[in-house]
Amino acid sequence: MASNEPLTSICVYCGSSDNGPEAHRRIARELGQLMAAQGIRLVYGGGRAGVMGAIADAVLDSGGEVDGIIPDFLMDREHGHRGITRLEVVPTMHVRKARMAELADAFVILPGGLGTLEELFEIVTWRQLGLHDKPIVAINPDGHWDHLAHLLSQLVETGYARPEITALISFFKSAEAALTALAVHTDIRAQLEADYP
Ligand code: AMP
Repeated sequence: MASNEPLTSICVYCGSSDNGPEAHRRIARELGQLMAAQGIRLVYGGGRAGVMGAIADAVLDSGGEVDGIIPDFLMDREHGHRGITRLEVVPTMHVRKARMAELADAFVILPGGLGTLEELFEIVTWRQLGLHDKPIVAINPDGHWDHLAHLLSQLVETGYARPEITALISFFKSAEAALTALAVHTDIRAQLEADYP
């Protein structure tokens, strides 16, 4: 994304399982519909099941664009989604994560499991190291991420992390609030870069 351009793509990390609460797939669909309405492309892991499949289908059904990045060995296990705008099959998990990160202007974490957590921690720690400065938000509709937020506070309290880490990721209850926060962040950064080139 050029510095003064609006948000054009968001990478969404979320669960690949269909076994989570229906409410999580519902909020994924809400996010997908909002993204498509705002012309924001979805970048995600390329699967057809779970929360991942729910958001991809919602973006497509609402006329939006979807880029999926999936490693070869997961095409069967995660039901690689052949109906999306662009499905990129890559050799490894590391290439997948790098491609997802480079294609997106911002990151949203929806409810998910271990894989979602791994992706979340990588992108948050990369931001802590200054490897990127793209905004990161988590959608926490029903307390799914409460323990994670608590863990982050505890890392600060015990001195293993600086208080600034709480600014690396923000938590929101709704898809709409999360998207608004990303848009505001992008606008402020563009304004700062215009004022202090
Ligand atoms: P899960 O939250 O466990 O359902 O996984 C969500 C997504 O994260 C799936 O597409 C997984 O393939 C992916 N994933 C699982 N393990 C990892 C990992 N170590 N690194 C990156 N992504 C992963």
